[in-house]
Amino acid sequence: MTLHPKYGRIDGPIVIIGFGSIGRGTLPLIERHFDFDRDRLVVIEPNSDAGAPLAALGIRHIQSSVTRENYREILGGLFADGTGFCVNLSVDTSSLDIMKLCRELGVLYIDTVVEPWAGFYFETTENAQRTNYALRQKVRDEKAANPGGPTAVSCCGANPGMVSWFVKEALLTLARDTGVDAEPPADRNGWARLMQSLGVKGVHIAERDTQARHAPRPRGTFVNTWSVEGFIAEGFQPAELGWGTHEKWFPENAHRHDSGCQSAIWIERPGAITRVHTWCPTPGPQFGFLVTHNEAVSISDYYTVGDVAAPAFRPTCHYAYHPCDDAVLSLHEMFGSGRQQTIHHILEEDEIVEGIDELGVLLYGHARNALWYGSRLSNAETRELAPSQNATGLQVTSAVLAGMVWALENPRAGIVETDEMDHARCLEVQRPYLGPVEAHYTDWTPLQDRWELFPEDIDESDAWQFRNVLAS
Ligand code: NAD
Repeated sequence: MTLHPKYGRIDGPIVIIGFGSIGRGTLPLIERHFDFDRDRLVVIEPNSDAGAPLAALGIRHIQSSVTRENYREILGGLFADGTGFCVNLSVDTSSLDIMKLCRELGVLYIDTVVEPWAGFYFETTENAQRTNYALRQKVRDEKAANPGGPTAVSCCGANPGMVSWFVKEALLTLARDTGVDAEPPADRNGWARLMQSLGVKGVHIAERDTQARHAPRPRGTFVNTWSVEGFIAEGFQPAELGWGTHEKWFPENAHRHDSGCQSAIWIERPGAITRVHTWCPTPGPQFGFLVTHNEAVSISDYYTVGDVAAPAFRPTCHYAYHPCDDAVLSLHEMFGSGRQQTIHHILEEDEIVEGIDELGVLLYGHARNALWYGSRLSNAETRELAPSQNATGLQVTSAVLAGMVWALENPRAGIVETDEMDHARCLEVQRPYLGPVEAHYTDWTPLQDRWELFPEDIDESDAWQFRNVLAS
């Protein structure tokens, strides 16, 4: 087997929108794994800093923002002959509008998040409208209104994205380890029934990022391992989670949705200051932030059994994110001062001196208590595997690669989320870039990290109630 297989040929232009940390890391993977006409590869990026590196690679740079006003003209011109691939890796561009245009033009499309046009996150006044539930539901409504047609892969990064493939691998692992004879189910209903039959109550997208550099974080700078702008925007959105059928308690400051898939609830509090008890292999028990993410809504939707308004089974699902320590301090400074830092810094692979991004899914509540399944990729290994990115970046860009391969192999699948794709094929493509991918069982429950001198209002009858997971 060759180390870097070519997965196919992309006919027509490849247009990458956004050349930030993820765009820079995705480009070399596209070059490595696809045949295409190099003179038809274009990067649209407003920041002039992208000019020199792209010129050095002989790649065309259009220095412009894609906006509500110009996207039809710019993309319509580039994709005039109705072939090609649009790879949207920017902030502040509407995934839905660009996806619709690409499908109209007959062009394949992929993104890593349902992103709105600039201004949405801080100018929308209704919190319910600022949720990922609302953003995602519009994409689902578009899929329902216009099924089939050219493939547009929605939300195919690490999370959302790869973690949906991990949930399926984790379910098959759990089935095997508990003596259940399960073939990989053939459809959504089969997967949902498998999760139900295994007794899974919920899923944390449990992440610990330990990447660090030598220099301490300068005060007034927001430091992160991926888009600072993206993290601030989602951190200020309301906390959100897929709401499982085993939950007996309902947070006082939470709201349900009365239209759409109804799989999730949202809380009147920014996600990046809402802490949850969770578990990852390296730290063991830890606090994570309940930052809203598309996958919390999509996974709880995908694994629903029965009527959406009164399901027989649905898992609770949410992100439980411990970003790199510098990002934790950056959040603390930002929320404490009430001001966003104006200086942003994304840790680069060459300045990081230690650490891994440990990103997986923690399936809990079943016969083996809890199973974490995920990637434990170090920055050091990342530097051997692919250029221009840290470990966080490679977990995302390799998912984009897998999603592009799947789209090329399934060009008329319509709008899809990663839950709806062939997880085995996608992980086959992605796995060489993920470092150790491991399954870890734990006997930890959220009842365990308690300070006995400060009794809390918890439910000891069922350790896995969200009431116990939410930190007071
Ligand atoms: P980044 O902030 O490093 O880069 C974003 C780039 O978009 C910047 O270079 C910026 O100049 C450019 N941009 C801004 N406005 C634009 C516009 N109107 N038109 C074109 N380009 C524009 O972010 P990143 O870390 O590269 O992340 C890119 C996207 O991927 C973000 O939306 C982020 O939320 C998402 N992401 C998803 C995952 C995942 O796992 N699903 C992980 C990381 C990032």
